[in-house]
Amino acid sequence: MVAHNLGYPRIGSHRELKKASEQYWAGKSTHDQLVEAGQRIRRDNWLTQQQAGITLIPCNDFSFYDQILDWSLTVDAIPERFRPLANQPGVNELDLYFAMARGYQKDGLDLIAMEMTKWFDTNYHYIVPEFSKNQSFSLRSEKIFSDFEEAKTVLGSIPKPVVPGPVTYLLLGKEKEGGFHRLDLLDRLLPVYEQILSRLQEQGAEWIQFDEPGLVLNSDEQQRTAYARAYRFLRERFPNLKFLVASYFECFGENLSLATQLPVDALHIDLVRCPNQLDDLLNTAFVTSQTRVSLGVVDGRNIWINDLNRSLELIRKATDALGSDRVLVAPSCSLLHTPCDLDSETEAGGVTPEIKQWLAFARQKLDEVVKLATLSAQPDSEQTQRWLAENEAVLAARRNSPLINRPDVQQRVSRLTDRDTHRASAFGKRQTLQHQRLNLPLFPTTTIGSFPQTEDVRINRAKFKKGEKTREQYEDFIRTETQKAIRWQEEIGLDVLVHGEFERNDMVEYFGELLDGFAFSQNGWVQSYGSRCVKPPIIYGDVHRPEAMTVRWAEYAQSLTPKPVKGMLTGPVTILQWSFVRDDQPRRDTCMQLAFAIRDEVVDLERAGIQLIQIDEPAIREGLPLRRENWAAYLDWAVRAFRISASGVGDETQIHTHMCYSEFNDIIQQIADMDADVITIETSRSQMELLDAFVQFNYPNEIGPGVYDIHSPRVPTTDEMVALLNKAADVLPVRNLWVNPDCGLKTRRWPETEQALKNMVQAAQTVRNLV
Ligand code: GLN
Ligand code: ZN
Repeated sequence: MVAHNLGYPRIGSHRELKKASEQYWAGKSTHDQLVEAGQRIRRDNWLTQQQAGITLIPCNDFSFYDQILDWSLTVDAIPERFRPLANQPGVNELDLYFAMARGYQKDGLDLIAMEMTKWFDTNYHYIVPEFSKNQSFSLRSEKIFSDFEEAKTVLGSIPKPVVPGPVTYLLLGKEKEGGFHRLDLLDRLLPVYEQILSRLQEQGAEWIQFDEPGLVLNSDEQQRTAYARAYRFLRERFPNLKFLVASYFECFGENLSLATQLPVDALHIDLVRCPNQLDDLLNTAFVTSQTRVSLGVVDGRNIWINDLNRSLELIRKATDALGSDRVLVAPSCSLLHTPCDLDSETEAGGVTPEIKQWLAFARQKLDEVVKLATLSAQPDSEQTQRWLAENEAVLAARRNSPLINRPDVQQRVSRLTDRDTHRASAFGKRQTLQHQRLNLPLFPTTTIGSFPQTEDVRINRAKFKKGEKTREQYEDFIRTETQKAIRWQEEIGLDVLVHGEFERNDMVEYFGELLDGFAFSQNGWVQSYGSRCVKPPIIYGDVHRPEAMTVRWAEYAQSLTPKPVKGMLTGPVTILQWSFVRDDQPRRDTCMQLAFAIRDEVVDLERAGIQLIQIDEPAIREGLPLRRENWAAYLDWAVRAFRISASGVGDETQIHTHMCYSEFNDIIQQIADMDADVITIETSRSQMELLDAFVQFNYPNEIGPGVYDIHSPRVPTTDEMVALLNKAADVLPVRNLWVNPDCGLKTRRWPETEQALKNMVQAAQTVRNLV
């Protein structure tokens, strides 16, 4: 049985790619040095996979920034604005490539970077292809061919080139002008695929992997036709190449019969996300075809060890129906989404030897894939029996570990009642009570929570973590920063103050470190985009709050001022969304545990005299399932989790929430169902257009539409903000409106922050005088 892999992390096991590319961007290393760093990572990756026993090893899965951007360059889909750069002397192909990813400001050119967006429901971000009506494609880059040659030399065998499937590639892009649909471009794109495949064939390629995760999205007739046409086109021209079409992250849904009938040699399915897909497949005419199936049984999206028996059951079902020649074993998707190597973890971060046994990172997952292939080929060998026994023992130990199980937490969730999810009174009554108590002016001004995380703040935290500063010294420093921030907010005349979040490294990590049930790896980095990596916390057990987390800081900040200070928390859905979540219970259940932990904190803040509490939920929307038919169920528990966290307080305590994304239309009902007293959102870049969803819905509660973009150092003028506020006041009741920036200010510097907020306060005063 063939053990294969769809893709391997390319950041390097010690983030070598990050270091090498950032050096290059800073002008501190040469083009050749960067190229060599890439070569070293690829070589390591290929040899690691070979040594693990993977027989079909991917190539062209490496990228200096993003595989979709690589492809745009390969097929010469370079937006017009970058053309001058392509002809500029001294600018090499890699510079052009990075310019497309990151923008370019040099030699009189000012080129805006291409847009970046989330890769399906992962935390990886790809560079969005831009298409024009007259778009043409041609073969431009040699990357895929040189990668193939390089892999062949390193491995001494034939690698499997990975290419974005033509339909998914087009679907992931954007039309930059009207009058056409991007799928109309398929006929112009396919001849370039033809050229690429014929070159690869000449080089000796046997298998080609087409990544078509678009196949798991809800589709229309046009899309389905495009898939069928594309593969018919390629099949006719290459009867001898073996095509593997890879889907992942979801079930096929209405695309099932289309997918199973594609004229290809193998179809990859994600049995972690969609365990029923195998039965579905075996119920179609697929069974009587010649097509092989690649079973994605090892989770490429999470970090838990595989349940070998469960995977073997699936493999057996497939081999019984199709014969073992037609079955391949693989991770569920590219391993890009998992950290590199568990072996580099030591105990310090809380990944104790006990927890470590439960985990598998990319390298360990390769071993699992190979083990599964071996196990199903030789079910009765001694080796096999030993592997299975070991795996069963570890899984049983995990299930029963006191580290994981907190009966009190489980009980609390199971006894959830309506009272836990409802405030005492409806919004109307709460609003009256809150207005009486807080006595704020119309258009009250506030910020989203964080103030600049300066070099000084980061250095102090690093020193504390390294033991070079005592806790007392560090906390003194944080108190001083907080005090400065409070004084300064008072001076410029903000109405509702914040403490500034100086004590927080990151809005999820900070809470994870204070909650039970979380562990932190030391080197568990995953690529987020380009050179940016994230290290998600690991939720391994029942979540419990051993003691108050933020009360001390909120109380301190409030003690410094008669003005109200807003307490600041991260919501349960966002904590869930940005962590590796345990796979031994539904995500929903873990989210409910988080919700109760946050609820306790909210109640403690109220008890400490905090009158407004913000529960940030920027990740609610990104948690939406890929297929629409699953949205309702997710939104139901996500909204419930938020309501649990917010409903423990009295009517006169004002609950805020914050979300910084732009698409509210689809989910406005659920946002209203969250019933936060105040919601602050990002709207400035769209000139308040994003408010439309709230207006059309007659959104009843208070709302703070962001009046300036915090992503840029540019200081907005008072007039601009007055104009935006007037726009908002035209369409929403004035008593419901707040004035605030789009998001937190931690990535900004103080000079622009000071000026921008002064102007904002001024803008609020101006509109107050108008009503
Ligand atoms: N309170 C957080 C901050 O201000 C919110 C961040 C976010 O929305 N991503 O930084
Ligand atoms: Zn935000």
